Amino acid sequence: MIENRENSIEIDKENFRKIGHQLIDDISDFLSSIDKKPVTVNKSPSQLQSILGNNTLPENGTPATELIPRVTNLLLNHSLFNGHPKFLGYITSSASPIGALADLLAASINSNVGAHILSPMATEIEKQTVQWLAEFIGVSPSYGGILVSGGNMANFTAFLAARTAKAPKNIKEDGLSNISKKLTVYCSKSTHTWIEKAAILFGLGSNSIRWIETDSSNKMNNKVLEETIKKDIENGLQPIMVIGTAGDVSTGVVDNLKGISTICKAYDLWFHIDGAYGVPAAVIPKFKKLFHGVTEADSIALDPHKWLYSPLEAGCTLVKNPQHLIDTFSSHPEYYNFTSTEGETAQNFYEFGMQNSRGFRALKVWLTLQQVGRNGYQKLISEDIELSVLLFDLAKKHPELEAVSQNLSITTFKYIPLNYKGDNDYLNKLNEELLNELQTGGELFLSNAIVNEMYCLRACIVNFRTTRKDIKEIIEIVIREGRETHSKLQLK
Ligand SMILES: *Cc1c(COP(=O)(O)O)cnc(C)c1O
Repeated sequence: MIENRENSIEIDKENFRKIGHQLIDDISDFLSSIDKKPVTVNKSPSQLQSILGNNTLPENGTPATELIPRVTNLLLNHSLFNGHPKFLGYITSSASPIGALADLLAASINSNVGAHILSPMATEIEKQTVQWLAEFIGVSPSYGGILVSGGNMANFTAFLAARTAKAPKNIKEDGLSNISKKLTVYCSKSTHTWIEKAAILFGLGSNSIRWIETDSSNKMNNKVLEETIKKDIENGLQPIMVIGTAGDVSTGVVDNLKGISTICKAYDLWFHIDGAYGVPAAVIPKFKKLFHGVTEADSIALDPHKWLYSPLEAGCTLVKNPQHLIDTFSSHPEYYNFTSTEGETAQNFYEFGMQNSRGFRALKVWLTLQQVGRNGYQKLISEDIELSVLLFDLAKKHPELEAVSQNLSITTFKYIPLNYKGDNDYLNKLNEELLNELQTGGELFLSNAIVNEMYCLRACIVNFRTTRKDIKEIIEIVIREGRETHSKLQLK
């Protein structure tokens, strides 16, 4: 009977409260004692599969009262915790607890933020979030944009807008094969791999990327950039965009953005900034001049799930003239009746990016921005940078460490045995081994970077739980494990 529809998917009010309260209790216990847990588990995929139980698709249902406690246990005991104060790997931040509550609420309302009519308040919240993010990094709040899943998608979205704006107009109908001049794009050698994916996926091909060399400070060499553009034009190619990086993924270097913008203006090119990691540091008055030129960008990618501490996933594309997004992504199928409300034209986010149905990822970003505020972020981001400088200084002072680089909140360094006289190859091998030991040991989590052909340990601090004490302990752990790894390798 479907009059009084009893079914196995609904959870009645009492049970929902009971399961929910228990879950919230478990999460708050977890968050308040996260520093006591190992950062990660050292288990192989097959060990994890056997813990998981290799059952086939369940034929019959299991009550939620059993499932939620079971999965809570499973995850709390077999995960890597990037919210751990000693997690400084890659560029993955600790997540704001309010973001977890936001996701629960967002999933409960289940707004489809593709169209205004399907998500009236959620769409307005996302619009406000985009505007606040523009204000946060110090560009005009008239920039428009969209939240996407992360930095790659944010850069892809901007790349496509640039292609529409700067490639011949007929590519929409005729595609890329019918254009006479080969399109080219420019970026420094230290640009994140998204650019290669974009060039391949969006039809330009990887040979269309001009990898511009970097200068001694690891910034794109703007002189070489301009010469390369000139030469390409002379050779009948069509440059369309330059990508500047604001915080490169290995060492945190910010390109000379102002210089790039001048070149883009001179040659009528789209100026995109990949600020996925670093651009939020522009909120700190002291760092403003490092990001000089950011206001000239045609588009900017940033990642709230990095230095704004939003839970995964949240990236954002900002575009100076948002009409470029509509020109790129809008289509009007007959079965959409999303026109206007109350005489005003509503913004439909499906016209701003690649997704059609879209979740409400803005909520966690919007709430964290309000909970912390501009001042709170200035403090958090400054402290991350200070801790990174502290790590660099401690490494510099230590006789068994070499401090290699420090930019924004990324420090690279390496372990060198006392009185070491050998070659660089062994040091590379030693530090690689050491990193493997550290990553599986569970006490801390670092990643690696290759700097000047040296294999380095890399710490990126986007973690509001890390303290000075953690940094000092990290040094001790690296030294202890470094010595051990060295003597193990000597015995081999
Ligand atoms: C992290 C990062 C990306 C990729 O972002 P995801 O969120 O991992 O997709 C791109 N560019 C830079 C500079 C980054 O730091």
